[in-house]
Amino acid sequence: MDYGIKIWGNYDYLIEDGKVVINEGNRPALIDIVKDVREQGFKGPVLFRFPHIMKKHVNALFNKFNKYIKDYEYGGTFYSVFPLKVNQYPNFVTYLMKQTKGKRYGLEAGSKPELIIAMSYVNEGTPIVVNGFKDKEMISLGFISAKMGQNITLTIEGLNELETILEVAKEMGEPYPNIGLRIKLHSSGIGIWAKSGGINSKFGLTSVELVEALKLLKDSKMIDYLTMIHFHIGSQISEISPVKKALREAGNIYAELYKMGAKSLKRIDIGGGLAVEYSQHKLQHSINYTLDEYASDVVFLLKMIANNKNVPEPDIFIEAGRFVAASHAVLIVPVLELFSQEYNEQKLCLKEVNPPLIEELYELYNTINEKNAIEYLHDSLDHMESLLTLFDLGYIDLIDRSNTEVLVHLIIRKAINFLKNKNLSELRDIQDMIQERYLLNFSIFQSLPDYWGLGQTFPVMPLDKLDITPTRSASLWDITCDSDGEIAFDSTKPLFLHDVDLKKEDYFLGFFLVGAYQETLGMEHNLFTHPTEFVVTFDEEGNYVLNDVIEAQNILDILDDLDYDVKDIERRLKQRIEDSELIPDDEKKEVIGSLYLVLSENSYLKTVAGSRN
Ligand code: PLP
Repeated sequence: MDYGIKIWGNYDYLIEDGKVVINEGNRPALIDIVKDVREQGFKGPVLFRFPHIMKKHVNALFNKFNKYIKDYEYGGTFYSVFPLKVNQYPNFVTYLMKQTKGKRYGLEAGSKPELIIAMSYVNEGTPIVVNGFKDKEMISLGFISAKMGQNITLTIEGLNELETILEVAKEMGEPYPNIGLRIKLHSSGIGIWAKSGGINSKFGLTSVELVEALKLLKDSKMIDYLTMIHFHIGSQISEISPVKKALREAGNIYAELYKMGAKSLKRIDIGGGLAVEYSQHKLQHSINYTLDEYASDVVFLLKMIANNKNVPEPDIFIEAGRFVAASHAVLIVPVLELFSQEYNEQKLCLKEVNPPLIEELYELYNTINEKNAIEYLHDSLDHMESLLTLFDLGYIDLIDRSNTEVLVHLIIRKAINFLKNKNLSELRDIQDMIQERYLLNFSIFQSLPDYWGLGQTFPVMPLDKLDITPTRSASLWDITCDSDGEIAFDSTKPLFLHDVDLKKEDYFLGFFLVGAYQETLGMEHNLFTHPTEFVVTFDEEGNYVLNDVIEAQNILDILDDLDYDVKDIERRLKQRIEDSELIPDDEKKEVIGSLYLVLSENSYLKTVAGSRN
């Protein structure tokens, strides 16, 4: 059982000796790193970031594009920028910049705070591209960046932005930032993230506006600052054909603008969209191209168009975000409870005389074997239906009902064990029907918002026991008080997990490929905040090193963020304890002490009755 790691894992993560290991240094097992941080007192969910994985993906981009630039004798140069909207967290951005020093790798910003991050952390000489709607203040920031000597391009989304740039140019003087035009393409992407492309998209200039922009730039003697055209047809483009279509359209627009007098135009920014394989299941592969094919198509098509139209081959910019960031982060989540775990033999309270159907269930439980397992399972489910009806009609009591639930769960567990190595379609149906519910110490709204909002699934697997066949069809519940906080069992992409006794051992699940978009899109529903995070690097001996821990916010800080007066909260709670007649005076100090302990901790669960967490 490899949970599709060969499909989505990209050799970043491997399975060795039944554990997930990181394919770097001495290949440490994730579970060992988790144990390490828990021994240091960090409980609840944790997010690990791996800078070597960021580097690997950026290197892959440069290697492939540079290969095809060389193979096709292409005249332009390859550049890449990281779109900050995909992950603005400091432990991501600062490490990404460290890992990419010496490459033509910069940052893309879509808002004022993102631009400030870009201006502060971009490596010297590498590009900054500014997309998104801009006011005069944001444009002025671009001019400040140019005055700092940065290689910045403001791509305009509408003619009004261009007019503002001309206005600010007069006010602030040279040096000016470069100007880019975002073009509204006819072509659009496909899939759930494809809304940013196409003629009806929110962004970019139509052909009419492009012609007007060119005139405006010429009239104001700013045409030499027009260096780039930009397009973006959407994120997670799963097929190559829309990319090719968009490239043909954009390549021709570039050539036409050049011929119409934009002689400094030398860059095409092809946006993001390079897809990530999130699927864990062979039949659900979602991408129909490789990075190789993508890079080859981009270089080849742009060369063809430039040569046909007799214009210089432009530099190529790419804004791949998801591709660079997704796999660098893994979220580790402790399992707090298996709901059927409460059904064990000790919970049986059989009476001297039991209803006949319960006697029969008990008999089934004691005599079930490999041969009769399916039949007995059907019988037991049938009996359960009848017994529950008898309860509703008042013929059996609560003890009988509880015995029914316990016996049926025990029979199910035995049956699954007998049948686990048989590939019976019936077993699949049964697994679909009788799922185990795993309660996980995390929030889907905080950590996997795209699952909640878009139904995007992420690879998930246990960190160990991978040499043992998992037997339980699993649905995953988070700890928010919201019924949407569930990843239900889906028989088209089934998840099976182990039947573990959490009183005896810990069990952790890893959610992979969560490094793109999830963190800033995550919301604090029920006031569960960003989990504690660590950056994991490797020393010269290949041992892992934990760096730059950022702890999940404590409860007082969370309330402070909501603009509560936390001093007032502390004062009120203290006063209420002091005024309470139910707490003896000599215990009040102790109660206040315990209260403060809770206030200084984060909102995730620390202990759950019965589990070791
Ligand atoms: N560039 C722009 C303008 C975007 O809007 C986006 C996100 O949709 C990206 C780049 C990053 O896209 P992706 O993460 O799919 O590479």
